[in-house]
Amino acid sequence: MRLTDNRYASEKQQFELALRMIHHEARTRTIRLCTGLSDDRIRKVYTTYFRNAGQVVVKRRRGKSPQQIGLFVKTPQNQLEATTLIALYCASLLLRVDAANKVHSCWPRPDVEYGHRVCRAFETYLLLHPKSSLSFEWAWNLLHNISRNSELYLAICRRCRGKYVQDTCALDKRICPSCALSGGPH
Ligand SMILES: [Zn+2]
Repeated sequence: MRLTDNRYASEKQQFELALRMIHHEARTRTIRLCTGLSDDRIRKVYTTYFRNAGQVVVKRRRGKSPQQIGLFVKTPQNQLEATTLIALYCASLLLRVDAANKVHSCWPRPDVEYGHRVCRAFETYLLLHPKSSLSFEWAWNLLHNISRNSELYLAICRRCRGKYVQDTCALDKRICPSCALSGGPH
């Protein structure tokens, strides 16, 4: 009886996460990674809850997540939004920053709890940046890219000492997006 209850609870969590991620227009592959559901079951969840319910505003996205990093540093506003996401990932214990400012993933591999934490961080980001520039899949890309410490890193502002997301190859003026957006002498 308890085994059945546990299985039911675990399936319920998988489906709740699939719904939450479809709502954010996550790609099928990303949903599969976190929920463990097959593509076919994800398609059924989408068809049952979104397409049939007339919620055609939610698109079903296929294929790989965006891989480029240019969007995160395109403008100070985008850089600020990417930095907000990193702070939220750290608060959600998905990432940690060590003393040498390197970013590490705290999760061995995606699972249901991981997916819910990413969703919660992304939802908080949307509240903080109502005109957000980064979609769920871009937020997902950022989470994985920054912990590789290769194309992106955390730079430190020379004015406020705040950390911000920066392109490793960019000419860094060491001014964080908050200071850049608030103006004043650089
Ligand atoms: Zn600053």
